[in-house]
Amino acid sequence: MSDALILGSGPAGLMTAILLAAEGRQVTLVDRDPPPPKGGGDDLYAGWKRPGVRQFSQAHLLLPGGFHLLAKESPESVDRMLDVGAVSHNLIAGAWHVGAIDGPREDDGRFETVAVRRPVLEASLFAVAEGHPGITVRRGLQVNRLSTKEPRAGQCSRVTGVACEGGEEINAELVIDASGRGASGAAMLRDVGLAPYEQRAEAGFRYYTRFFRSENLASRLPPWAGFQHDSVSILVLPGDSGTWSVTFVTSDRDQELRGLSNRDAWHRAIQLYPTEAHWAEGKPVTGVIATGGLRSAHRRLVVAGAPVVTGIVAVGDAWASTNPFFGAGMTTAFRHAALLRDTMRLVDTKDATAFSMTFAAATERHLLPLWHGFDDWDRHRLAEVDHEMMGQRYTTDDPFWQKRVGLEAARAKDPDVLRAVADVTGLLAGPEVLARPGLKERIAELSAGASRYHYPGPVRRELLAAVTAE
Ligand SMILES: Cc1cc2nc3c(=O)[nH]c(=O)nc-3n(C[C@H](O)[C@H](O)[C@H](O)COP(=O)(O)OP(=O)(O)OC[C@H]3O[C@@H](n4cnc5c(N)ncnc54)[C@H](O)[C@@H]3O)c2cc1C
Repeated sequence: MSDALILGSGPAGLMTAILLAAEGRQVTLVDRDPPPPKGGGDDLYAGWKRPGVRQFSQAHLLLPGGFHLLAKESPESVDRMLDVGAVSHNLIAGAWHVGAIDGPREDDGRFETVAVRRPVLEASLFAVAEGHPGITVRRGLQVNRLSTKEPRAGQCSRVTGVACEGGEEINAELVIDASGRGASGAAMLRDVGLAPYEQRAEAGFRYYTRFFRSENLASRLPPWAGFQHDSVSILVLPGDSGTWSVTFVTSDRDQELRGLSNRDAWHRAIQLYPTEAHWAEGKPVTGVIATGGLRSAHRRLVVAGAPVVTGIVAVGDAWASTNPFFGAGMTTAFRHAALLRDTMRLVDTKDATAFSMTFAAATERHLLPLWHGFDDWDRHRLAEVDHEMMGQRYTTDDPFWQKRVGLEAARAKDPDVLRAVADVTGLLAGPEVLARPGLKERIAELSAGASRYHYPGPVRRELLAAVTAE
């Protein structure tokens, strides 16, 4: 019997497997999708079909916080990425050339990460996991059901393993649900009458992405990845092998902009944004990749101070997910994997209740505040977009949103503010760095009276006309 059965071999499952195997634990990693094909960046991006992950081909950036964790815990994964076309990327390098920022500083190395498309990143972790003698990899195997043990008096049910298609049963001391945003692990718990607590937002976002390639443009970085406009946001993210992506982010409810999934409409639209338009001048590598239904969700297996079930924990997106605008998903997943490894060092998984409680408490302490911050931002931004769609300006007294809007205005105007913002958005530090004496006042001063949107773009009527034009 394995020490751990990991349901799902995405970034969360892979990192968990690598960290636990490094501790000498026997791990079985199960995923319904096939393994990666052989080859370099383009072979992996175009050739690896992963129907189990809807966003597999979407724009992804690994934040510096996640990169440093990966480089420390699995340097061979980073080496593999670099071997197949990933390149070093500094999160604030594009901003060094913005007027007030005045070039790089000696300690800007902390903002380093790798520019790499998601399939290439994942294939590198997969190769490391597959090569580890402590990890048994089972790809192309669908998990259908959780096996449970009847509870003894005064205890809750315990998961003892999984049942797969074809009837195979795999038992393990601990089942780790890394089944992603679709949360099939939570659904299987409901199937056996064990409902986790679940919080889901009513509305979400939709992404319309194209990838491009050009050796020249790839080196001209935008000052930051995300640009806010009235009813759309635009993301520009670097990738491996001379590629990068450009994404329109809309409200999922915005039916009028659904036409952005047509590549001509997408191109007419991007031309209207002078700061971002030149990023669509490279050689297109993909059509428009549209992904919707991106709502935030959060699940808990410990409710009112007691576990609903033991023998199972959830990590990564299976635990919680949000609008991916800030690119925190993989970094959160890596951190969660490290928290699980640390909990397993402290508490024996055989002491099932204590283990569930300790891991839940660590998750709530270290990761839940982060999720709440993203969820709050999503709620305000969706309300803002809803207002913009109706031709109105969004206002709120919530100091959270006023601070966030203020940071967008101030980051380009002061080198210390820029770095504090990058520390927080790069998941290198918590929001307390923005409250340092002197900095807080400077942010307030620099953002006072600033307009909401800092980059030129069309009014909504012009955008809709471009999207619907023949
Ligand atoms: C549009 C978009 C853009 C994003 N951009 C970024 C970004 O820039 N940076 C970033 O860090 N994050 C980004 N994310 C988030 C990131 O994709 C996720 O956080 C990440 O995939 C989470 O990894 P995971 O391992 O938890 O889940 P997943 O990657 O979803 O993996 C889950 C795995 O479980 C398997 N599985 C599920 N059910 C079963 C079953 N019953 N049997 C067998 N296998 C099963 C699936 O096949 C899959 O392989 C983005 C997300 C979206 C939607």
